[in-house]
Amino acid sequence: MDSSIVLFVPAGAGKGTQAGRIVQATGKPQVSTGDMLRAAVEEGTDLGRVAKGHMESGGLVPDEVIIGLIQERINQPDAEGGLLFDGFPRTIPQAEALEKIAPVSMVIAIHVNDDSIIERICGRFTCGSCGEVYHDTFRPCKVESVCDSCGKSEFKRRSDDSEATVRSRLSAYHSQTSPLESWYEERGLLLRIDGNHGIDVVAASIAKLLVE
Ligand code: AMP
Repeated sequence: MDSSIVLFVPAGAGKGTQAGRIVQATGKPQVSTGDMLRAAVEEGTDLGRVAKGHMESGGLVPDEVIIGLIQERINQPDAEGGLLFDGFPRTIPQAEALEKIAPVSMVIAIHVNDDSIIERICGRFTCGSCGEVYHDTFRPCKVESVCDSCGKSEFKRRSDDSEATVRSRLSAYHSQTSPLESWYEERGLLLRIDGNHGIDVVAASIAKLLVE
């Protein structure tokens, strides 16, 4: 198996876009444990039943469950060229397990100030009719309270996008990832990126790392 990449980026910091660009540039399929667990919960599988309570309480799914899931994913044919791990590893035992089963060539950590993440997440809203995404400051509707795309006026905001919830999601993220960053730094694999810029500037910094 070729080497894999690990991506650390908090929710609300452009994770989807940046991960998509890395997949495009490297051809390594993205493996998001959060997405895999959500799919399992949706399908009502045994894994989903185990994961559901942990996910709803905001805690972590046990290491052995996650490691089993990753082991299975690594055995699939498209993993041969390496993978882009997103949301994994989340603990030192997960990183130790990964080290034994798949080589990692780089760990990209995108750092964004908490205040700008809060600003980006808390101002988000979507059209309840067509799903168009807006932001109070960065992308307001051209005509107030009317969707640019479908002309309807039914908007929704996610309940976990409140400032208090986002702050606690961020503090959980920092307490989980900082020991992992140090762990990978000791192994000479950690690359930090300043994510406090526009999407394209951040993408260009990542692209530069990928060719170096
Ligand atoms: P995410 O979409 O990556 O934020 O993950 C959503 C939830 O899934 C987390 O809050 C955890 O409950 C669970 N989860 C995802 N990845 C992991 C992991 N690597 N280890 C433990 N729990 C995880």
